[in-house]
Amino acid sequence: MNAIVAGAFRAEKPSFVANINTDPAAAYIAANDFDRPTLVVSRAKVTTQYDALSAGLGRAHIHYAVKANPEPQIIRTLVRKGSGFDCASRGEIELCLDQGAQPAHISFGNTIKRASDVAFAHGVGVTLFAADSEAELEKIAKHAPGARVYIRLIVENSLADWPLSRKFGCAASLLPSLLDHARDLGLVAYGLSFHVGSQTRKAEFWNPVLDQVAPLWHAAQEAGHALQLLNIGGGFPAFYGQSIEAPRRYAASVIAAVEARFGAVPHLMAEPGRGLVAEAGHIAAEVMLVSRKSADDLHRWVYLDIGRFSGLAETEGEAIRYQLVTRHDGGDTGPCVLAGPSCDSADILYEKRPINLPLALQDGDRVMICNCGAYTSAYSSVGFNGFPPLDVIVL
Ligand SMILES: *Cc1c(COP(=O)(O)O)cnc(C)c1O
Repeated sequence: MNAIVAGAFRAEKPSFVANINTDPAAAYIAANDFDRPTLVVSRAKVTTQYDALSAGLGRAHIHYAVKANPEPQIIRTLVRKGSGFDCASRGEIELCLDQGAQPAHISFGNTIKRASDVAFAHGVGVTLFAADSEAELEKIAKHAPGARVYIRLIVENSLADWPLSRKFGCAASLLPSLLDHARDLGLVAYGLSFHVGSQTRKAEFWNPVLDQVAPLWHAAQEAGHALQLLNIGGGFPAFYGQSIEAPRRYAASVIAAVEARFGAVPHLMAEPGRGLVAEAGHIAAEVMLVSRKSADDLHRWVYLDIGRFSGLAETEGEAIRYQLVTRHDGGDTGPCVLAGPSCDSADILYEKRPINLPLALQDGDRVMICNCGAYTSAYSSVGFNGFPPLDVIVL
């Protein structure tokens, strides 16, 4: 037990900070030394989040978005819970199958698939595919004949902290012809999907998006497509400092809003990524240097041993603002620019809105970066600039 660090983490903290008495990943970090940045994820916490979301989602089946954290032990835990999986590639499908997932519980949700990956998925028994274009439907019809397809729609999602932009989905105006095309190709036009945008902090932010999609759903039914599936995607938030609703209540509010607009949908599906795994993990990192650029510099520069390229890619745009815990918390603080270790000028985490850190912070100090279980380890480079990729320990 590293007494200094453990004692520090036990200090009085605002409620957002992971408590080492109740949080397994925080306790592990406090009790151990690390020679490189390390993400520690608790399967028990993933299970708790799964149960809470699942209770709130009711009839809607969870398909975990594998990209958020593809650790095999996490996948296996979710297989045991009865989760389904949203996969984006052959690699993710193989990962889920290897961990015991049934092909019937896997959806191939990327709208941009390699033809050979479609054929692979079809060959192993995956029958549910996403598409947002004619060419993709034709690819699916050729390599997975007779498959069920759902059409991904573009929605306005400016209320999310990490919007997914316009890369995925088709405009509403294209939907009728895509559904017809799917049917004409011998596919089953099975449903619709959308994504409200990642880190949608409030359930009420879903309403404008649901208002966009519901009329399209009803119009498609009237046009003769007996749609079965409404895939509401991800967007379930994690705590990064701004208040969010508890997962069960949030999910229940979303489902109530869905049912108010769509009525009794035969097959409801949700694809949480961040909301399932983010709060289950924290990163143990280290301060490499604290400096000022001039004698009268108002800001200190704090350089960590982890940065934009070694796991903290979501600091891009400074939208996701991780909470940091240090052994000096409680003492006086001052504004800092926070940066990573690599020799790339883009490797700055927070500069536009500096972050307040203790004045006593110095090189060699442990920093715990909280609620990092999603979109960190999978984003880490293979070793840019010789800095090791983010290590992962699953508890
Ligand atoms: C990334 C992704 C998700 C997960 O989104 P979160 O905001 O992390 O919940 C869900 N569905 C699809 C299709 C995705 O690409």
